[in-house]
Amino acid sequence: MNDASPPANGRIIDGRAFAAGLRRRIADQVRTLQAKHGVTPGLAVVLVGDNPASRVYVKNKGEQTKESGMASFEHKLPAAAGQAELLALVDRLNTDPAVNGILVQLPLPRQIDPQAVIDAIDPAKDVDGFHVVNAGRLATGGQGLVPCTPLGCLLLLKDRLGDLTGRRAIVVGRSNIVGKPMAQLLLNENCTVTIAHSRTRDLAAECRRAEIVVAAVGKPEMVRGDWIAPGATVIDVGINRVDAGNGKTRLVGDVAYAEAVRHAGAITPVPGGVGPMTIACLLQNTLTAACRQRGIVLP
Ligand code: NAP
Repeated sequence: MNDASPPANGRIIDGRAFAAGLRRRIADQVRTLQAKHGVTPGLAVVLVGDNPASRVYVKNKGEQTKESGMASFEHKLPAAAGQAELLALVDRLNTDPAVNGILVQLPLPRQIDPQAVIDAIDPAKDVDGFHVVNAGRLATGGQGLVPCTPLGCLLLLKDRLGDLTGRRAIVVGRSNIVGKPMAQLLLNENCTVTIAHSRTRDLAAECRRAEIVVAAVGKPEMVRGDWIAPGATVIDVGINRVDAGNGKTRLVGDVAYAEAVRHAGAITPVPGGVGPMTIACLLQNTLTAACRQRGIVLP
């Protein structure tokens, strides 16, 4: 335990409040865009099948899109839809001027290759930031669209720590949607970045060296409290549903929160940390895409 740390409450990064503030700023900018340029950004979300979790995500995305003043277009295809049908829809959305952002909700049914679908989205409308062109731009320091969850993590980190230059950061996890783009973003902020994964030797020791720990593993409470250096900032991306007894379940992150909060200088809870930032950053990306597509620079 670090005696110099602020009290526990001050250490908790409130992602819900930060995301609400970001959504308000986005809504203000949407109003400015409409008033000055007559443009209403539009986000198309495509859901294939009826995965219950995906249905909830798509519903939330639609509601928050409308609340921010943007246009929301929902497209639902049956679980048996073929790849050609989905690609034809993506094609139509690519050329629809009312649609500035396209998101195809993952996972997709087995008969559809997700990579083929991501590849088919116009990179300028790829608000998930998964297209290889956007991944390449992030890696080479170009101007692209950045995956929403790591972008949300970065905003929380910068809000808490300010300039990140020179900070030692570790990202645990190397997926294309979280770990790798997170590491690139931190590198672009001049952090010294370690990327850890399932083959990393002595992960605990690697984490203890870091001033910033981002956990994106998908393993409930894997990162223990004594892996966290005193005063380090911990961003927990994990969302894991575990048995809570009595036939109920609860959500936990990839970090053992109750232990880590005693060591960390700041930490995101689960739920209420990174999760709410993802949709807020999706709205941010849609606004960014709409402006860039028309060459508009907002103040
Ligand atoms: P993923 O594609 O399954 O990747 C997990 C990564 O963790 C892999 O790189 C894997 O290493 C690494 N890993 C697995 N076991 C490990 C171990 N024992 N030690 C060290 N590294 C290990 O997962 P993801 O899509 O990145 O998601 C990660 C977590 O974030 C999940 O809990 C997911 O639900 C959550 N998530 C949350 C949001 C949000 O909005 N908050 C968004 C996306 C994801 P290898 O590469 O070596 O296999």
